[in-house]
Amino acid sequence: MAPKIGLVGVGEADSTAISWLRQDLPTVFPAEALVLAPIPLPFRHFRGWRNQFLAEGILDEVAGIARSNNMICLGITGADLFSPGLNFVFGIASTRRALISTFRLRPGFYGMPENQELYRRRILTEAVHETGHAIGLSHCEHPGCVMYFSNWIGDTDQKGPGFCYRCRRRVDHTGVW
Ligand SMILES: [Zn+2]
Ligand SMILES: [Zn+2]
Repeated sequence: MAPKIGLVGVGEADSTAISWLRQDLPTVFPAEALVLAPIPLPFRHFRGWRNQFLAEGILDEVAGIARSNNMICLGITGADLFSPGLNFVFGIASTRRALISTFRLRPGFYGMPENQELYRRRILTEAVHETGHAIGLSHCEHPGCVMYFSNWIGDTDQKGPGFCYRCRRRVDHTGVW
C-alpha cells in the first residue's frame, strides 16, 4: 500500500492552501497526500488573554485522526498558535502528526503586498518542516535546510522547502514510507 499523508483542515482553514499541499507534498516526500474531512477548532484550547490557540491542544485532536486513519496527519489551520514559552509557533509536530498555522505566513500579515507564490512556498516550507518532525527528523543546523528552526518568517523564506543532503537521506531511509 502506498504511504499517505492525510491533510486535515482545523477550524477556518484555507482550502487553497490545502489543495496546494495535496499537490506539493508528494514532490518532497515519497508519499501521496489526500484531503481528509475537516475538524472544528476546539475552543477549549483558546486563550483569550493572548488571543491564540494552544498548539499542543490542537495537535492532540490531529493525533486522534492520525490514529483512526493509520496515517501521518498534517492539520492546517488559519488560527494563530502558541506553545508554552513561545510567543507564537508556525507549527508543531510529534510522532506521526503535525500541525501548521497559515496565520503568520501571508505577506499581508507583515504589511507586505500579497504574493501567492511566496505564500505557497511558505506553506510548503512549514508543512515539510513539521512533517519532517512527524517522521522522526530533528532540527538541522544548516540554515538552508528546511529542518532549520525558524525564529521568524525571514528564516522560513531563507531556508525554503528543501532538505540538506543529510536530512534528505534520513527522509528516504526513515522506514515510515
Ligand atoms: Zn521544528
Ligand atoms: Zn538538514
